[in-house]
Amino acid sequence: MRPDPSGPPGERAGPDYPQARARMVATQLRARGIRDERVLEALAAVPRHAFVDPALAPEAYSDRPLPIGHGQTISQPYMVALMTEALRPEPGDRLLEVGTGSGYQAAVLSRLARSVFTIERIPALVERSREVLARLGITNVVQRVGDGSTGWHTHAPYQGILVAAGSPRIPPALFGQLAEGGRLVIPTGSRDAQVLRIVTRRGGSAVESESVACVFVPLIGEEGWRE
Ligand code: SAM
Repeated sequence: MRPDPSGPPGERAGPDYPQARARMVATQLRARGIRDERVLEALAAVPRHAFVDPALAPEAYSDRPLPIGHGQTISQPYMVALMTEALRPEPGDRLLEVGTGSGYQAAVLSRLARSVFTIERIPALVERSREVLARLGITNVVQRVGDGSTGWHTHAPYQGILVAAGSPRIPPALFGQLAEGGRLVIPTGSRDAQVLRIVTRRGGSAVESESVACVFVPLIGEEGWRE
């Protein structure tokens, strides 16, 4: 599927954004080994510039995280793609994201699954991301304010759980909310440096593998770090 050349709603801010996004997909994602065409299509379609402050919009397709206020960041596009690919979302899936931030990752996931539940602990970020997602016409993302380190029990089990903040460990509550065969993608390690881990639930047991080294803002909460 090719993105509409006129771009999705919210694209009007600048005529070069679709081109910048296509370049991002080619040079930052495909060239670095992201192979899942559905994931590449999703990142080619979602207007990242709509999720950052207008003053930062010209930087939106650069190869780095960007500040979104409150000491938080929108993740680097490559990291969003890598984590999404590791999650292996299917069209019928129910997914959980911990750490909504700007809402960008949730928007990417919304194109790849039936429904996305996403939790953020900072109310102002929930409010802002809710507005952006609504403006883009995204209706299969459900949001709430809260501590996602213990998951979102009401809608469990999930076929995939993506944690967009660095955790000291794999929170047992998150593993417990995975469906059989489901995958948890989570950066774990110290407050300053982590490794991306992929945990698959098989017969009730955890099968783990490690991906790349990474640096995320801390997961703050009951099963994360103290504030
Ligand atoms: N996925 C986001 C995006 O696309 O913009 C980026 C997430 S940012 C790297 C990490 C987010 O996790 C921050 O907004 C932070 O407030 C949030 N966070 C940290 N601890 C949390 C917790 N226990 N529950 C929910 N959100 C949390």
